[in-house]
Amino acid sequence: MSYDYDLIVIGSGPAGQKAAVQGAKAGQKVALVERDKVLGGACVHRGTIPSKTLRENALRVKNMRANASLANFQLAEDTEMATLIDRLDQVLLAHDHYMRKQIERNKIETIHGRAKFVDAHQLHIAKVRGEAQTLSAENIIIATGSFPRKPDNIPVDHEYLFDSDSILSMLYLPKSLTVLGGGVIASEYASIFQALGVKVTMIDKYPRPLGFLDQDLTDKFVHAFTDMGGTWLGEHTVVSARFDGLAGVITECSNGATIRSEKLLCAAGRIANVKDLCIENAGLALNERGLISVDQNLRTSTPNIFAAGDVIGPPSLASTSMEQGRRATCNAIGLNLGRIASVIPSGIYGIPELSAVGLTEQQAIEANGAAIVGRANFEEIARGQISGIQDGMLKLVCDPQGEQLLGVMIVGEGATELIHIGQMALLNDAPVDIFVESIFNFPTLAEAYRVAALAVIGQRKRAKP
Ligand SMILES: Cc1cc2nc3c(=O)[nH]c(=O)nc-3n(C[C@H](O)[C@H](O)[C@H](O)COP(=O)(O)OP(=O)(O)OC[C@H]3O[C@@H](n4cnc5c(N)ncnc54)[C@H](O)[C@@H]3O)c2cc1C
Repeated sequence: MSYDYDLIVIGSGPAGQKAAVQGAKAGQKVALVERDKVLGGACVHRGTIPSKTLRENALRVKNMRANASLANFQLAEDTEMATLIDRLDQVLLAHDHYMRKQIERNKIETIHGRAKFVDAHQLHIAKVRGEAQTLSAENIIIATGSFPRKPDNIPVDHEYLFDSDSILSMLYLPKSLTVLGGGVIASEYASIFQALGVKVTMIDKYPRPLGFLDQDLTDKFVHAFTDMGGTWLGEHTVVSARFDGLAGVITECSNGATIRSEKLLCAAGRIANVKDLCIENAGLALNERGLISVDQNLRTSTPNIFAAGDVIGPPSLASTSMEQGRRATCNAIGLNLGRIASVIPSGIYGIPELSAVGLTEQQAIEANGAAIVGRANFEEIARGQISGIQDGMLKLVCDPQGEQLLGVMIVGEGATELIHIGQMALLNDAPVDIFVESIFNFPTLAEAYRVAALAVIGQRKRAKP
């Protein structure tokens, strides 16, 4: 049977883009369907890039406050959000330019319209002006991303109560903000707004935020957040939140606590975006977690349909989505794939940054009965002292003999970049000694690896008879 395309990719976020480019590079005839008029998905327009642009400015504001106390620096009361993400347009323009060029260069046909399945090989595309088109392909990749989960008791109105897709549409920086949730998005925005001088209260039902991270890291994060003036309310269950009809939001918890704030951000997770996609026409259904299930090759239960990115669930990162997209295409067209990464780093762009790869101390103890851990505080590192980046820590988690590296945890500025040194060591099953035998540039924060490794080796020596 002949089809219009070898491969159709639905969605132009990180997963879809890399899937389409991989297909075209392998000589496939590829169409990329995107319902928005711009390419790039949540990552570019509502998530990763806008939030990191705001973060960059929040960091500047925080540093100005810390370094220019004589100037008594304060943001103006009516600071417009637009001024805080002023570089966003330039960043997006540059990104859009690069993306379009890449897509054109690879001769990928871009079709703007909303896709829905007719059957396993055919898609109905509804275009902006109402025209419709039916396209067919041998293989189809679903990369339609996710959207914010809206709990029934939180009436998000995008004016007083926001979600993670709408928070940056606030016109003015509020005086106070309640953040519901303790996950990555909640922690990032809570600390970013607090650094901007907003009074932030973060509420979650769990005892600590970012519960999947090593406890040392989350303790440091909560400490830094409260030190900036933020309030962390763990083990609080929110019963309701509502606009008070005047100028703010009232949040009520089951233990009787009531929090008033000018605005609220509901960051209660994200769910697969398959609305209107009619996946049932292709023989697919959502799993019990509201996601599309795939096997290790990213293949759905319909053999010629693959899925990648947020639509298949955690870790729901742009970084992993890209690789899943690339792999989905390789699997669809039978290309040889390299070894799949066994360790995925997590990067949380809070203030401070947090990043981890491999086993946490708790996980290492569960797996091996014990663990040897080495820490290096940035204040001990020359670069930390020179750059005023003293509030940070790098932690190496090793096996009970203190020889094999099992995990790396970092909190502090530069954490999301520094982690890759540890990631490469883990991928190569390197012993912890590699950090002592290697020569690091001086002065760098990377030197913390050496200091932490020496701490591990010291304990190893003491532990041996
Ligand atoms: C606030 C925030 C901060 C984040 N920060 C980070 C970070 O720092 N680092 C990181 O790695 N990740 C981060 N993420 C996560 C990252 O943005 C997502 O993991 C990533 O965007 C998922 O990529 P995707 O390709 O699966 O989907 P998306 O980027 O969501 O793209 C899906 C695309 O599909 C299109 N689409 C949907 N349905 C249809 C249809 N029926 N027809 C045609 N097109 C359709 C959509 O319009 C969209 O363009 C963040 C997310 C948020 C919300």
